[in-house]
Amino acid sequence: AHTPAPYTGPSAGQVLAQRREFLNPGIITYYKHPIMIVQGKMQWLWDDAGKRYLDALGGIVTVSVGHCHPHVVAAAHQQNELLQHATTLYLHPNIGEFAEKLASTLPGDLKVCYFVNSGSEANDLALLMARLYTGNYDVIALRNAYHGGNAAGMGLTANSNWKFNVPHSFGVHHAQTPYSYRGVFGYDDPDAGRKYADDVKQVIDYATSGKIAAFIAESMQGVGGFVEFPAGYLQHAYGHARAAGGVCIADEVQTGFGRTGTNFWGFQNHGVVPDIVTMAKGIGNGAPLAAVVTTPKIAAMLTQKTHFNTFGGNPVVCAIGTAVLDVIAREKTQQNCLELGRHLLAGLNKLKEKHALIGDVRGQGLMVGLEFVKDRQTKEPAKEACQQVVENCRELGLLVGKGGLWGQTIRMAPPMNITKADADFILAVLDEAIGAAA
Ligand code: PLP
Repeated sequence: AHTPAPYTGPSAGQVLAQRREFLNPGIITYYKHPIMIVQGKMQWLWDDAGKRYLDALGGIVTVSVGHCHPHVVAAAHQQNELLQHATTLYLHPNIGEFAEKLASTLPGDLKVCYFVNSGSEANDLALLMARLYTGNYDVIALRNAYHGGNAAGMGLTANSNWKFNVPHSFGVHHAQTPYSYRGVFGYDDPDAGRKYADDVKQVIDYATSGKIAAFIAESMQGVGGFVEFPAGYLQHAYGHARAAGGVCIADEVQTGFGRTGTNFWGFQNHGVVPDIVTMAKGIGNGAPLAAVVTTPKIAAMLTQKTHFNTFGGNPVVCAIGTAVLDVIAREKTQQNCLELGRHLLAGLNKLKEKHALIGDVRGQGLMVGLEFVKDRQTKEPAKEACQQVVENCRELGLLVGKGGLWGQTIRMAPPMNITKADADFILAVLDEAIGAAA
C-alpha cells in the first residue's frame, strides 16, 4: 500500500478564498468539486486533507494505467533530463519509435501519425484532412456526441451543455443518435443498427449537396453518457458516408487502448475500419498527448502543405506514450478490462434490481454507466439524484463522473489495471450512495 507524503500546502478552501478570481470563476465546470487533489498513486488519489479516493472516473477516462505509474514516471523522468523539447521542425529519437508502436496497434493501412496536444485539436486536424482529401465540405456527426471544446470540437458536438452560442458549426450536420435506451428503436429491435444508420443517409440527402467530406463518430459515446451503438450501426453509417464521397473518422479519444476489453480499438467492436482515427486521453495517461492516424493515401494530400504544431509529439510525451503502450501490453490491461468490466456490469445489474432509480446499466470493458430515471416507464431523467449520488460517492471515497444531456448518467472508467477488490469497492460504495440518494 502506498503511503502518501504529508501535504503542507494551502487547503482547497484557502486556494478558493484567496485565488478564486484568477481561476475562471464563471465557468461552472471548472473546480466544481470542492476538493483539491494533491497526490495520486495508481487507482488512488489524495486530497489536501489526506482523504483517499478511488478514482473510478480515471481523470475523465484518461489515467489508463494508473496515476504516477512507476514505469511512466521513470520514462518521463529520464527524458526530462535528456531533452524536453525539439519542435516539429526536427526529429527526435522517441517520435519514430512511438509512431511505429502506435501504428502497430491499428489495422489496415492506418499508419501515418500526426501528433497534437488534445483530443479537440486531433478532431480539428482530422476535419482538415478529410476536407482536403475529398474536396468536400459537409460533415456528418451524431447528436449527443462530444468531440471537443475548441471551435471544431464544439461544432461537431451535439449537446447544448457544451456549445457556446457563437458560430462554430463549420458545415456540420447531426444525425440521430443510435441511443437504444431512449431512441425510437430499442434494445429489443434486432435491426436497430441499420434503421438508425438510415438517418445518416437522410441527413446527407436533405442537408447537404449529396457529397460529404466525412462522417465522424465515437465508438461508444462518452460525455453523452456511455451510449453503446447497436450492432451494424457503424457498418451501415460508414457505407452511407462513403457512398457520398466521405471518409470515416473514428473518435477513439475515450474508447481506445483496450478500454472496452474486447478489442484494442472501439471501432473494432463494430467490424469497421475507419480512414482516420483520432485519439488522446488514455494515450498519455494524463500527459498532453494526442494523435491523428490515417492512411498513406490521405496523408499524401498533406505532403505539400505547411502545417505546424509547436509541441505536438514532444520528446517527453512520446516517451510517456511509449511507456504507456509498454504497460498496456505487459500488464495485459485489455484482458483486465474485459474481465472486470463483466464483473462490474453483473454487479451493477444486481444494483438495478434493488434501486428503482437505475433505469439502464450499460457499457463495455472498464467503461460502464448507470442512467438514473425518476420513473422507469416515463424514463424522466433523474438529474438531481444523479448529482446526489456523485456527491455521496465522493463522501465515501469514490470519484465517479456524470454524463448525458441532463447529467443523468453516472460514468466510470477507472485505470485499466484496477483489481477485483477495487471493483467490489466501487459496487459497495455505489450501493450505499444510491440508497442514500433515493
Ligand atoms: N473526443 C472525445 C470523444 C472526448 O471525450 C473528448 C474529451 O472529453 C474530446 C474529443 C476532446 O478532448 P480534449 O479534452 O483532450 O480536447
